[in-house]
Amino acid sequence: MALIVQKYGGSSVADADRIKAVRDRIKRTVDLGNQVVVVVSAMGKTTDGLVALAESVSTTAQTLSEIAAKEREMDLLLATGEQVTIATLSMALQAAGQPAIAMNGSQVRVVTEPNHTRARILYVEPERIKTELGLGKVVVIAGFQGVAIDPATGLPSTEITTLGRGGSDTSAVAIAAAIEADICEIYTDVPGILTTDPRIVPKAQMLAEITCDEMLELASLGAKVLHPRSVEIARNFGVKMCVRSSWLDDAGTVITSPRIGTGNLQSLEVSRFVENVSIDYDQVKIALLQIPDHPGIASQLFQSLAAQGINVDLIIQAVQETEGVNDIAFTIPQNQLKLAEVVTRGLELGASLITVDANVAKISIMGVGMIGRPGVAAQMFTALAEAGINIQMISTSEIKISCVIAASDGSAAIAAIQKAFDVPVSSHQACEMETTASIADSLPVRGVALDRNRARIAVQKVPDRPGMAAKILEQLVEQNISLDMIVQSQSDRDVNEIAFTVAIADLAKAETALKQYASVLGYGEVSCDAEISKVSIVGANMIHQSGIAAQMFSALADANINIEMIATSEIKVSCVVRDHQAEQALKVIHQTFNLAGDHAIEVPSALKK
Ligand code: ADP
Ligand code: ASP
Ligand code: MG
Repeated sequence: MALIVQKYGGSSVADADRIKAVRDRIKRTVDLGNQVVVVVSAMGKTTDGLVALAESVSTTAQTLSEIAAKEREMDLLLATGEQVTIATLSMALQAAGQPAIAMNGSQVRVVTEPNHTRARILYVEPERIKTELGLGKVVVIAGFQGVAIDPATGLPSTEITTLGRGGSDTSAVAIAAAIEADICEIYTDVPGILTTDPRIVPKAQMLAEITCDEMLELASLGAKVLHPRSVEIARNFGVKMCVRSSWLDDAGTVITSPRIGTGNLQSLEVSRFVENVSIDYDQVKIALLQIPDHPGIASQLFQSLAAQGINVDLIIQAVQETEGVNDIAFTIPQNQLKLAEVVTRGLELGASLITVDANVAKISIMGVGMIGRPGVAAQMFTALAEAGINIQMISTSEIKISCVIAASDGSAAIAAIQKAFDVPVSSHQACEMETTASIADSLPVRGVALDRNRARIAVQKVPDRPGMAAKILEQLVEQNISLDMIVQSQSDRDVNEIAFTVAIADLAKAETALKQYASVLGYGEVSCDAEISKVSIVGANMIHQSGIAAQMFSALADANINIEMIATSEIKVSCVVRDHQAEQALKVIHQTFNLAGDHAIEVPSALKK
């Protein structure tokens, strides 16, 4: 007998027939002798409908107190969607002779932080669920919602919260962690995790398994099949997880986490943000300043480096205040410096200047808890600034932030970061990444993701001195705006450009906040661009092969797609491209890495439309 959590997404419970199909699957699971807890989403597109309803009767909130008031009611409204599903499904189970009980988030006590519309789960009380299971019932729980803690008493209040769109995956895994379930099965409208979104590339291929790190990156980079925070909890608590279709009996995709969970069940989503800090002194930085901004430049550069077997580590490409030119900077191991310099200078790409700095180090913090917490990057930059350390390059991924600094600042930087985050130092980078035997033999690129929900902000003429990146980020953190792909360019003058991407919904707020401080902090113009998308490749095995980024850049160049920003980490490469070319970008990248299978994946809920 196993204790199983099954989560059914909106399309899996979209109408009465689908609810009956779900009922049958649950019954079959119970009949096999298992105890089952079910977590459900709102039916079909109910949540979208409720959001539209709210917008049709209200105006855009202007002040902070208006925003807070609206967000509270929004949560009350949106939480109704899931309640319809739990009650209906529970009645269907009862009618089929299967004892069941429906519970909403507050009845279970899924206790969250008191942040409306984006609450994080603090803990889930397992007692009531276990009591009902003990009575032979299937417990049907509303996903996506919780009840806020009362900060004054430290006890649950009566305020309903929601976790953020797509959040019922996170409810399911949090509940699985709290009741120590044997597995959390996520049922959706695709057969599992695929190499990319089958709605854009129908011949996307199934992955039998994927590591938590890869899944976290994919989910955070736009693959909406899983809410990234659910993967974060699975990883921290060692919850076994799989993704399957509620239309099929296929095994689906297993999400592997070789670590033993070490999380604290009393602070499920808010315990450790940063797991470790590492420093790599074997780095040399090469920067090409003011090279022409047109398709093919990055491709030519990195193809040529790859052809010589040069292992490029960090790559960043940032926007330049001067129209039509870009800066590209990258790091490589010390022993490849001469070769890389010869290759780079030999290419004559039209850079106004090529600089080489052999005295640099890369300091990185890593942790799955960084997703959606803008404060973590700011805290890292502040810690470095307070130690008087200048950041030369920044590159971020969802689970890692790396800064290139002067090698002579290395030990002071480590000390500052250790103090700020209270974390251990790990000496070797590659060991941190998860690899399993089967992954070790797998293709370097496992998945391609597209995030169309991004906008880019560039802050020009930022004085090149300690603390500037931290100060800029702090303005956004105060507004609770999450940013990613932070890249700081390398420049030959005493000013830098810092660019990053934010959710389109946060663009106006971010722009206002940054413009307000331009004169105080002494930076120049703040330019915004909502017509961009981010396309990324992910693979735990990428670090073992050179030329992967180059191959991605070439595919884009061949399709005449210009790359406007680049940011890399060990397991991913992200490029910002024009939004109207985004789907094509995804397709050509998927193709260049030979990820397609031999048949089209059916998405039953998409067929209906
Ligand atoms: P649910 O309602 O079950 O929560 P979602 O719509 O949130 O389902 O997520 C499933 C969708 O995620 C799929 O229909 C698919 O279009 C999309 N998707 C995006 N990237 C991927 C990927 N790499 N693998 C599988 N599905 C993906
Ligand atoms: N119903 C919610 C949404 O549409 C939560 C979910 O489905 O995961 O965002
Ligand atoms: Mg979903």
